[in-house]
Amino acid sequence: MIRRLVIVIFGAGMLWLPASVIAQENDSRVSVHVVQRGENMFRIALQYGLTVDELASYNGIADPTNIQVGQNLLIPLEAVTSTSESETHLVQAGETLRSIAEIYGLTVEQLATQNNIVDVNTLYVGQVLVISANTVPLATPTISPPVIPAQPILTGTNMVYTVQAGETLFRIATRFGLSVNDLTRVNNIADPTLIYAGQQIIVPGIEPPQLAPDLPTIISSLEMSPLFLVEGQTGHFHLSTTAPVNLSGSFLNRSITGAAEQDNTQHDILVGVPIFTEAGVYPLSLILVDGGGQQTVLNLNIQVLSGNYGSEYITLLSDRADLLDPNVEAAEQNLLQSVISNFTSTRYFDGPMGLPAAASVTSPFGRKRSYNGGPFDHFHSGADFAGAPGTPVLAAASGVVVLADTLNVRGRSTIIDHGWGVFTGYWHQTEQYVQVGEIVTVGQIIGTIGATGRVTGPHLHWELWVNGVPVDPMQWVQMSFS
Ligand SMILES: [Zn+2]
Repeated sequence: MIRRLVIVIFGAGMLWLPASVIAQENDSRVSVHVVQRGENMFRIALQYGLTVDELASYNGIADPTNIQVGQNLLIPLEAVTSTSESETHLVQAGETLRSIAEIYGLTVEQLATQNNIVDVNTLYVGQVLVISANTVPLATPTISPPVIPAQPILTGTNMVYTVQAGETLFRIATRFGLSVNDLTRVNNIADPTLIYAGQQIIVPGIEPPQLAPDLPTIISSLEMSPLFLVEGQTGHFHLSTTAPVNLSGSFLNRSITGAAEQDNTQHDILVGVPIFTEAGVYPLSLILVDGGGQQTVLNLNIQVLSGNYGSEYITLLSDRADLLDPNVEAAEQNLLQSVISNFTSTRYFDGPMGLPAAASVTSPFGRKRSYNGGPFDHFHSGADFAGAPGTPVLAAASGVVVLADTLNVRGRSTIIDHGWGVFTGYWHQTEQYVQVGEIVTVGQIIGTIGATGRVTGPHLHWELWVNGVPVDPMQWVQMSFS
């Protein structure tokens, strides 16, 4: 049984904001605090000039002693601003406590003390720092103008909002006093009608840019999109350098491969955050080596949020239950890994991807799965599209066919290499119209929907990998990573 994903239900979705906040629609800016090791509600409340009760009620927390590392707490910024004459700073990629302190005329020690930061190396991208006006020394400011990157991705105060069933982008925008355009721009959403329950979108504040990059001199700009990475989703880093460099690095115990352009001075890095990655702050390490062998290391702290994907039970008919045999799974998995672990430096995809079929999504990416009553040790590694047998299957983006075969679990399968370590897979087809080595263009019919392999009924399972990691393909329909 495949549970039906309800993309749009008309009616009231769950509102998580307390009534008092909804009432203040003119100034309902909110930010997110990711709970760090050693923090408690008292300390966090103090940091933002709130009481524990205020913070708990704002987040619907019944037991303030029970919070967890990596948990996201909503912080009402207007409360901080109005009561203590403080302002806030949202940490951007490439900023350090030193560079931020400088633009506010503070010392590193003052800024650290105001924010209860013990170790300056724990600062992370997206962290909200409180800048207390009371302690700003106005006598001898040594403020140097911040260097503004050409295209700042996110500025000001932002929060991550999880779309509830039945919500539209218009309704969300209205609640926060924004326009649909504000939300589509910040989130790179190509089609505002294609949002889904559980999707996390960034709600931007309307603050002027205030960036304090503190980058090694060989790096002229660094951009990160989105600013908050999510378990099971893709992140994009763009790096410009003043001289040609070779780039390598690691994130979440995986090595990073970047795509280099313009004589190795423009670098694009796509990272897939594996599902089951616990919410928290993780180091991303980049190593740049120039033509003379000079090495520069850049370390960033990146926060990863929970995907909140939910779970589902799957029942397989007895004549196909043998396909759950771990040996069958492993052999097929190995074949897949060998195909999708290549890195093609040519980028074939351009802009957001198209949908792989004119059909509705019946099971989204990421749900933890139990097969035939067993443990939740699987997860849904793609998005399922319901469609009558024979419905055309479309290439979601241009690329090169690197697998066209019939597999035990996945049935008649096609994999397309889109370049930059990005691959899409199309399972359970009846007809298959392409061959290995063939170049396909976006929207091209590559096969038809069927019920081959380990399925409970006809559907297309659509999968997407980034750097070897299966990630939510629907994010690629909404955002551009090119
Ligand atoms: Zn599926």
